[in-house]
Amino acid sequence: MEVPTVYFADARARSSAESLISKFDRIIEIELKDKISKGDLVAVKTHMGSPLSTRYLRPFYIRRLVEHLKKWGAKPFVAETTGLGLTNPRGTAQKYLEVATSHGFTQETVLAPIIIADGQFGTDITKVKVMGNLFKEVTLAKMLTKVDFLISAAHFTGHAFAGPAGAIKNIGVGCAGKTSKGLIHFRNKPKVNPSICDGSPGYSIAPCITACPVDAVSKENNKAVIDEEKCIFCYACVVKCPQKAIETERTEKSFLQKAIAEHTKAFVQTIGKENIYNFNFLIEIDWNCDCEHLQKGWNDIPIVPDLGILASSDPLAIDQASIDLINAAPGIPGSMAEECGVMEPGADKLGGILKDIDPQNLLVAAEEIELGSRKYKLEKIEVLSPKST
Ligand code: SF4
Repeated sequence: MEVPTVYFADARARSSAESLISKFDRIIEIELKDKISKGDLVAVKTHMGSPLSTRYLRPFYIRRLVEHLKKWGAKPFVAETTGLGLTNPRGTAQKYLEVATSHGFTQETVLAPIIIADGQFGTDITKVKVMGNLFKEVTLAKMLTKVDFLISAAHFTGHAFAGPAGAIKNIGVGCAGKTSKGLIHFRNKPKVNPSICDGSPGYSIAPCITACPVDAVSKENNKAVIDEEKCIFCYACVVKCPQKAIETERTEKSFLQKAIAEHTKAFVQTIGKENIYNFNFLIEIDWNCDCEHLQKGWNDIPIVPDLGILASSDPLAIDQASIDLINAAPGIPGSMAEECGVMEPGADKLGGILKDIDPQNLLVAAEEIELGSRKYKLEKIEVLSPKST
């Protein structure tokens, strides 16, 4: 197998010709121009942050991509999906779009429609058969399976459960249906514990029944019953039950890493690896993720200086290169890198900070299912005219 190239636009600049945007433009022209055809429906899949986070990817990078795509006659849109669960701050399309707007992502700023591709309640999903070790069937956001091309634009960070949050997670979780997001994070769909359920006697309709967007909850013998086939795993019923009678159980982190890799593979196989391209933005690199949402999102100071932008057609190679560059960088004084003793170049930054999780395991899991290559050739983007401005 040919070793994939990972392009690297480093963040250092001494003139406008050396600016990160100039280098980004060059990668887009080198890598995407021949892959995109006039009239192509192109999804630019990104993450627009959580309500109180401030270190999400700046909309300007997305706008720049969109400008190139439109110049070539493509039909781009900015794509996201609803977050895990229904009641969380990004749980519905409407709530997510409010977050996006508050963070400066609007049609006016990114020059393309912003579409939450799995619909208002995350029900616009499609089932795909897979030959995974963990899953034989996964769900994906239906609209994203219909595009001609998908560009993953991921703000690279750490993630408390996955390890690294880059291209693999942006596709594996970000393009997954709500049901799959649930099954990545929890062992099984919600189950009613009949010994706790009291039938919600004070309500004309039980809160779990009202909350369910797909009418999967009913009552039998004054106890809630969930139709597992209908359930899309939004766990609104779990949150709304006054008795806490509907139960779920978290998966192990090692399971979650493998599950994400399998979902990425499922999406890649569905639309074709040749129809996907990946950018990882190693800017404001937080050890915590953009998708942290149970606490409405938050940020710490970055763990290493801004490094730049990586680009590759291989989602595994680009994530491996991202981790390698972060580990090679010095830590930022006063950050979690210092607090956790991983300041030296070469230290395992995310592993040392996240502690109970090996970030490389996500990449090992992806390699085992042949998602891509952990070996790569790093090609630095040279500036055209270092002295020009
Ligand atoms: S049964 Fe519960 S978890 Fe399943 S779709 Fe309905 S509200 Fe969501």
